[in-house]
Amino acid sequence: MRNIRRLFLRCLRLGHKRKFTYLNRLTDCLRYTRLCLVSLAYNSFTNSDVVIESLFEPIYWLVDHVTRWFGIVFVALVILLTSSIVLIVYICVLPLILQTYSAGWICWHLSYGHWNLILIIFHYYKAITTPPGHPPQAQKNIPSVSVCRKCIAPKPARTHHCSICNKCILKMDHHCPWLNNCVGHYNHRYFFSFCLFMTLGCLYCSISSRIMFREAYAAIEKMKHHEAERLQLAGNETYSQTPPPAFTFRERVFHKCIIYLWVLCSSVAVALGALTLWHAMLITRGETSIERHINNKERKRLQAKGKIFHNPYSYGRCNNWRLFFGVETQLQWITRVLLPSSHPAYGDGLTWKAPLWIPVKQTSVLAI
Ligand SMILES: [Zn+2]
Ligand SMILES: [Zn+2]
Repeated sequence: MRNIRRLFLRCLRLGHKRKFTYLNRLTDCLRYTRLCLVSLAYNSFTNSDVVIESLFEPIYWLVDHVTRWFGIVFVALVILLTSSIVLIVYICVLPLILQTYSAGWICWHLSYGHWNLILIIFHYYKAITTPPGHPPQAQKNIPSVSVCRKCIAPKPARTHHCSICNKCILKMDHHCPWLNNCVGHYNHRYFFSFCLFMTLGCLYCSISSRIMFREAYAAIEKMKHHEAERLQLAGNETYSQTPPPAFTFRERVFHKCIIYLWVLCSSVAVALGALTLWHAMLITRGETSIERHINNKERKRLQAKGKIFHNPYSYGRCNNWRLFFGVETQLQWITRVLLPSSHPAYGDGLTWKAPLWIPVKQTSVLAI
């Protein structure tokens, strides 16, 4: 009895505490809103841009929080969809390949399919688990070009603040919800390789299952036609003709799985293929997605003055790719690009000196 009374009193105290926490939060929120309004109204530096930015602040906050929480859902979705395709290939497609194809074609399908699958799994795992890289907090005298307004810390060149991770990211490209991680200096290669091999995998699946898709589509249409005929016969009792044979449950599932495989793989191949091509173009130019906008602005500004813009982080098309993949010798194109490799990205992400095997170009340093 005494225990029950004690528990009841504790619950009352907890409820009391919670009420106070909510009250405190509400008071803080009101105080913050009042401060914002006062600073906007009595600040001589306020202009229309600041007012619009302040009004959009709650929307940015909401988008950041939704992206942060949905990141886990998106990663689960990628794993679930990829696993479903792999299962369908193993259960429905592979037995047919083994039954109908010649030994040479079976060998090709088995080796290419597994090589592609291993590279997709490896690069996705590395892209979500490798931190993109942050400016070191303990280290003093970091080579920086500006100060981050959010972190109140020095910001090295090519570093940008991610409002979703709430951290500064070295050589930031973008925040990827499908990875639930930022794409930066240390995981950029894994992200790109994942996109590339996923596109190749989807293309492979949709090309090799195209005949099966056509057959499955025709079978589904036939199924619908049979069903309509069956209903018509059931309504007409005097009709003596034997009804058309029904499709078994296994056949129905098989055809629907093939259609699902082809539609999903083709759509992903088109969408992800376009994204991969866009990133390939950026890598060729030695830019990140953020730098693309900054450099375009700078290019136009200099063009108006009759000057030519030079990207200080571009070392030539081929060298940009070699630097991106960390390839120094010809053999490393195979061992570091076509095979799973966890070699670290070139450099520390703080300074951007060209490696010794790249001829030094005389360019002015652009602070971004
Ligand atoms: Zn920051
Ligand atoms: Zn981020």
